[in-house]
Amino acid sequence: MPHTWGYSPGMIDGPVKSLAGKHAAITGGGRGIGAAIAEALAEQGAKLSLLGRNVQVLEATASRLREDFGVDVCCAGADVGDEAQVRQAFADIKARQGTVDILVNNAGIALSSPFLKSDAAFWKKIFDVDLMGAVYAAQAVLPDMQKANWGRIVNIASTAGLTGMAYVTAYCAAKHGMVGFTRALAIELAKTGITVNAVCPGYTDTDIVANSLDTITAKTGRSREEALANLLSHNPQGRLVQPFEVGGTLAWLCSDAANSVTGQSIVLAGGELMP
Ligand code: NAP
Repeated sequence: MPHTWGYSPGMIDGPVKSLAGKHAAITGGGRGIGAAIAEALAEQGAKLSLLGRNVQVLEATASRLREDFGVDVCCAGADVGDEAQVRQAFADIKARQGTVDILVNNAGIALSSPFLKSDAAFWKKIFDVDLMGAVYAAQAVLPDMQKANWGRIVNIASTAGLTGMAYVTAYCAAKHGMVGFTRALAIELAKTGITVNAVCPGYTDTDIVANSLDTITAKTGRSREEALANLLSHNPQGRLVQPFEVGGTLAWLCSDAANSVTGQSIVLAGGELMP
């Protein structure tokens, strides 16, 4: 009988891809944190569906991922704040790539405004995209996850989902809502093979931070360097979180090593929050 002690398939056949055979849908997967998550899941062998408003940006990311990782990637245009568009986009990706095993609710907007200048339309816009988009997407994929008795739902919230911050009342409230949604759905599904978690990054090196720096410099007259130093002062490590760090966290949350992790809000912020 051959001696198999210490054998693992990866030693002979190359690294085992922990998400081979899984289908991951990522909203806002074309750029920023969403593109880094797509890359991390593709690296683990998942086939992908990328959703967002700008299909050209999605397609550019998709062709890079196909080339780099040899995985199937399809793209679907949708505004996640529009329930009918979300339902249609998830029906399209199911027809093209099969049922969704992993849902990453990443699409988001981070608009700032003093509270008294934040009217109902402003609040509605942020809640539609940053909270209801995740709800619509989860409702679209959950029946199939329940049938399979396996699934991962990961909501990209923010440190703003766990603490207060000035001039972003609507964003903070929507992200707190996402954390509450995560916790409640995790309990509702705890007896199934589906986990639901939130990831809460601090300031991360993407367009959102670049746009915030533009706004701060325009509104306060501070230099870009001063504005950046102020943002960095929130993070005890004194740096911006890098998108690949969020991607790595997702790869772990989607693996079997995280089977017992549900209802959590995982903070990636250099020690900024210790909830
Ligand atoms: P980003 O570079 O601006 O990317 C935002 C993504 O969301 C884009 O792919 C965009 O795609 C998509 N999106 C925006 N509105 C959408 C809509 N109505 N429908 C569909 N897709 C939409 O920002 P990011 O930093 O990667 O942010 C990703 C997530 O991380 C957001 O939820 C954000 O709140 C959260 N976050 C970011 C930071 C940070 O400092 N960067 C910190 C904490 C949390 P299209 O433009 O193609 O639609």
